Amino acid sequence: MARSSGQHGSDYAVVVVGHGPTGVIAASLLGHSHIRTLAIDRQREVYDKPRAIAIDHEILRLLDNLGAAEGVLPYIAPFPASQHFGAKGQLIRRIDMVPEPYPLGYTPSMVFTQPPVEAALRAHAAAYDSVDVELGTELLGFDQSLDHVTLHLRDDKQATDSITADYVIACDGASSGTRQALGIAFEDLVFDEPWLVVDLQVDSAAIAKLPETAAQFCDPSRPTSFIIGPGNHRRFEIMLLPGEDPREMEEPAQVWRLLARWITPDDATLWRAASYRFHALVAKEWRRGRVFLAGDAAHQQPPFIGQGMCQGIRDVGNLVWKLDRVLKGQSGAELLDTYGQERMEHVRQLTTRIKAIGHVICERDPVAADERDARILKEGGGRPRTVTRQEIVPPLQTGLLAFPLHPAHGTLFPQPGIRTATGRCLLDTVAGTGWRLVLDARNAPDLAADARASLARIGMRLIRVRSADAAGQAGSDIVAEEDGVLAAWFDHHGCRAAIVRPDHYVFGVANDNDALARMLAELATRLE
Ligand SMILES: Cc1cc2nc3c(=O)[nH]c(=O)nc-3n(C[C@H](O)[C@H](O)[C@H](O)COP(=O)(O)OP(=O)(O)OC[C@H]3O[C@@H](n4cnc5c(N)ncnc54)[C@H](O)[C@@H]3O)c2cc1C
Repeated sequence: MARSSGQHGSDYAVVVVGHGPTGVIAASLLGHSHIRTLAIDRQREVYDKPRAIAIDHEILRLLDNLGAAEGVLPYIAPFPASQHFGAKGQLIRRIDMVPEPYPLGYTPSMVFTQPPVEAALRAHAAAYDSVDVELGTELLGFDQSLDHVTLHLRDDKQATDSITADYVIACDGASSGTRQALGIAFEDLVFDEPWLVVDLQVDSAAIAKLPETAAQFCDPSRPTSFIIGPGNHRRFEIMLLPGEDPREMEEPAQVWRLLARWITPDDATLWRAASYRFHALVAKEWRRGRVFLAGDAAHQQPPFIGQGMCQGIRDVGNLVWKLDRVLKGQSGAELLDTYGQERMEHVRQLTTRIKAIGHVICERDPVAADERDARILKEGGGRPRTVTRQEIVPPLQTGLLAFPLHPAHGTLFPQPGIRTATGRCLLDTVAGTGWRLVLDARNAPDLAADARASLARIGMRLIRVRSADAAGQAGSDIVAEEDGVLAAWFDHHGCRAAIVRPDHYVFGVANDNDALARMLAELATRLE
């Protein structure tokens, strides 16, 4: 095992336990920041069946920032609107994505095929010079002191070893041994329903037998979800009824019986049928000393808007830039406390919203289901309303944000298309992914000397955005946006300046020079 020094002479700066979707992105983010990292997983191979199926634009932006998007795009497709049908088969609402121009520069909601995407992400992570990947290596236990963690490992040839790290990110999944060893309990948001998840590869000739869009059949006699995956991949999620044995219901004969309304064994290959209890659980602590929990190790939620995997990737997107600052001595270790504060509250809020959607879908009482349908239609003014998946995902509301909160604080900063001398690109390509001060060039505030000093203290980049159609204004810090996404955003929020974090969440917005200078000075102090 190759060794190199972390901050206190440790073998590694960071060890990432678990190389599933959360761990593999953590390793890439650490590699991108040139941090000495060891990534381990007790399994050698990517799990060969699809599990998570949805990915959103925030995650694709992160992959694009890493240079990993190209490798996964062949396995990704748009997530079409999901039609929700009531107890009598009537359309009661739609869940769709926000319309164009897309706020982050990518299709806002997508489906993907997990095994090849995970394989591409593993290849990407392994290519970083500062990342060692040890597959077939299991974490047996660990001890921590004030300045490092000692991890006890065993490989699949039964060889054991102990290594040290400055920090550990435990991405070891729902039954995380790390979480258990730390004695961290889950807060139970109280959702516990048995479902059968069925993945099919459907013959092209039979695709037309299936619904044309994604669907939720909120039928009290058998709530069922239908999701259109990439290519010929189709998924049914079917609620199990009292008295049904989950193991028996996974049997192909039972599965085909449940699908008979739509499709037969002559039409498709059964790829996977697995029963789950859909839970809503959030770890009560996300950091203990030098060990952090992320991904399913920290939370689990029902899959009704396909946020399971996205939540975990958001976790490590939040954590790694903070670890980077702390490991490079740019910020004190207190910055790391904001990880759990921010992510725990965000996950709790999103999971609560997902749970509410789940309660609507899982209603088994026919009278209550009729009342539900009438209520949902009434909320839409008597017609099926369209809700966007993006409005269901909340902003950050606590942690490293400027207070008092403005509606823009904690939201994701948009990414417009930018016109360059050679064509078009997205904003992050020219503005980067560090701290940014983005000014509306139509009426940008003047930056006083103290504001400029704060920019230097933080290591923040200044960008002024103008319309590609506006004449004049040029300069090294000016970029020209093509679709008016940012101009509309500044107008909507009534501001002229936005301070944007490395994970693209808005720290604060300002409308005048003094407020901006104060906010920058406050941030510089909080980051030190
Ligand atoms: C079988 C299954 C089915 C799922 N189905 C759905 C679904 O239908 N829809 C949906 O949205 N989400 C689903 N999920 C959840 C979704 O896949 C997860 O949200 C996502 O995989 C979380 O990624 P993760 O990296 O946090 O955890 P995982 O994908 O669970 O990865 C954890 C990794 O840690 C490794 N590991 C564990 N302990 C150790 C140890 N001691 N030492 C070394 N390595 C260790 C494991 O081998 C594993 O590779 C499913 C998950 C599973 C496991």
